[in-house]
Amino acid sequence: MTVEAHKESHGFQTEAKQLLHLMIHSLYSNKEIFLRELVSNASDAADKLRFEALSKPELLAEDPELRIRIEFDREEGTVTITDNGIGMSRDEVIENLGTIARSGTAAFMQQLTGDQKKDAHLIGQFGVGFYSAFIVADKVDVFTRRAGLDTDQGVHWECHGEAEYSVENVEWPQRGTRVVLHLKDEAKEFADGWRLRSIIKKYSDHIAIPVEMLKEQAPAAEGEEKEGEDKQAPEFEAVNAAQALWTRPRSDIKSEEYKEFYKLISHDFDDPLTWSHNRVEGKLDYTSLLYIPARAPFDLYQRDAARGLKLYVQRTFIMDDAEQFLPLYLRFVKGVLDSNDLPLNVSREILQKDRNTDAIKSALTKRVLDMLDKLAKKDADQYQKFWDLFGNVMKEGPAEDFANKDKVAKLLRFSTTHTDEPKQDQSLEDYVGRMQDGQKAIYYVCADNFATAKSSPYLEVFRKKGIEVLLLTDQVDEWFVGHMHEFDGKPFQDVAKGALDLGEAETDEDKAEREKVEKESGALVERVKEVLEGRVEDVRATTRLVDSPACLVVSEQDMGPQMRRILEQAGQALPEAKPIFELNPSHPLVQRLDQEADEDRFADLTNILMDQANLAAGNQLADPADYVRRLNTLLLELNA
Ligand code: ADP
Repeated sequence: MTVEAHKESHGFQTEAKQLLHLMIHSLYSNKEIFLRELVSNASDAADKLRFEALSKPELLAEDPELRIRIEFDREEGTVTITDNGIGMSRDEVIENLGTIARSGTAAFMQQLTGDQKKDAHLIGQFGVGFYSAFIVADKVDVFTRRAGLDTDQGVHWECHGEAEYSVENVEWPQRGTRVVLHLKDEAKEFADGWRLRSIIKKYSDHIAIPVEMLKEQAPAAEGEEKEGEDKQAPEFEAVNAAQALWTRPRSDIKSEEYKEFYKLISHDFDDPLTWSHNRVEGKLDYTSLLYIPARAPFDLYQRDAARGLKLYVQRTFIMDDAEQFLPLYLRFVKGVLDSNDLPLNVSREILQKDRNTDAIKSALTKRVLDMLDKLAKKDADQYQKFWDLFGNVMKEGPAEDFANKDKVAKLLRFSTTHTDEPKQDQSLEDYVGRMQDGQKAIYYVCADNFATAKSSPYLEVFRKKGIEVLLLTDQVDEWFVGHMHEFDGKPFQDVAKGALDLGEAETDEDKAEREKVEKESGALVERVKEVLEGRVEDVRATTRLVDSPACLVVSEQDMGPQMRRILEQAGQALPEAKPIFELNPSHPLVQRLDQEADEDRFADLTNILMDQANLAAGNQLADPADYVRRLNTLLLELNA
């Protein structure tokens, strides 16, 4: 049968082209990772073949020993990586090597700045892969044949860098993939046996199949001719340990090995923050190796982004991104689960129904939470790093995972009125430890940012009394506090909601003052009510303010402004909720207002106070020009 070569050229998908460009021009600081990435792909290909062979054993039959071979040619300046894994069909080659299928990639690529340093950092969130070949090569040939296809169904993919690539069918005798890297001049150093061996040892020691290189021949002494040397077939030997890392006892594994294994499975440049490796025997029988990354992926907030663990059953790879074993709020965890309980033919559908899945999920969830708790206790700096990266995701925990609400709550970190910088580094336990005698609630204020929160008028009385308040500045905060309800038996209380209630932190003096203020301001409150009729739910005098004349509060049963904004952005029609206008009768402006006999002037002043209260709460004015006009009229009177 003749091979229809059918050679054709293709342009790369835009995003693939951008990624390629970056690989070629920006990632020069750690060139050697190209080998880790290509070996990792080869190892995945072997895993996939073994998995398909579970139902189609004939795929493996002709060549059952899965392995990866690395060869080099110093004169040609090439490095070649060959696997006998699953291989690719022509369509798969075009799909896999010409496009990037991950959703959100286009948006991610738009963030690239052209600044090499910054972009190299960004790409770490994305994970380098096959294109890392172009860090060291200016031309790449891929020869591949999908397992199960005939020898004339081989494919040759060829690419000289950014512009385009070509594919053609070729006769290809063996199953699997061969990647030939034609090294750039400045990367010729990699065509070296010693160098390659040391890179393999460093990055790929613990992939489960052998990574082989030609045995190094001792140079023959002069005049000494080795017998039959020319006829000897080249002999390969394994360079790596070829034992899956997680199957070894914990005590035998060095930190460095754990770190390299993480990079192998995650395609991350950086070390993980921490990890936890456990063998569980008994009712359930599995091994897990879970990592907390030191970098957030670009698609952390994309609903359909790939997440989850690499699933093995009895050391056979089953699938990537098995998301059934961890809750969504722990989606940043990377790692491996090797189960002895699940069936080898397990699919995503079966996983969903298997009762072992839930049991393992709940055990792994606890494992991750404990690992984080340990990190927090052992290394506050590292924990802070974790929180800054994944804190917002952790806040989804109380809503998603009611059973572990208290464990999650202990891991949360906040800015409070006790913090000077916009840093979330105070735990709820810290807060509770500093609560005042008689203080019953954990107080919080929501605002768009730290500065607004910190200077919020609602905090004035709390500051005066030395009561700490949590400053919540993330969009999810109000929503998540709504699910927390309480911590350590203490309810959460929004300081901008409902009437001021300091509980028993209110002294007899405070109480007397409050009652006096309420009584004496009766008439003023009534006048203000008339002016603001229709715009507010109610008007009342307050002792919550010290330096501010007035503020707006939301009534107890209404949702706060943050929550409102989230729902409005999501397109929900919400019933109108009017705020309560609170006046501080001890403020000179309010006293001045009280004495104003002219009703028009009184209305002007009232409206200004109302608008200012809105501004201080971080709201937008319905009629800013009106506010400016009133204020300017007053300013002019200053000169008169
Ligand atoms: P990733 O591995 O993250 O999916 P890569 O860019 O490294 O991304 O590879 C893209 C795809 O190309 C892989 O998902 C795989 O389907 C295919 N591929 C890469 N290398 C090989 C190989 N050696 N054998 C078979 N398929 C491969």
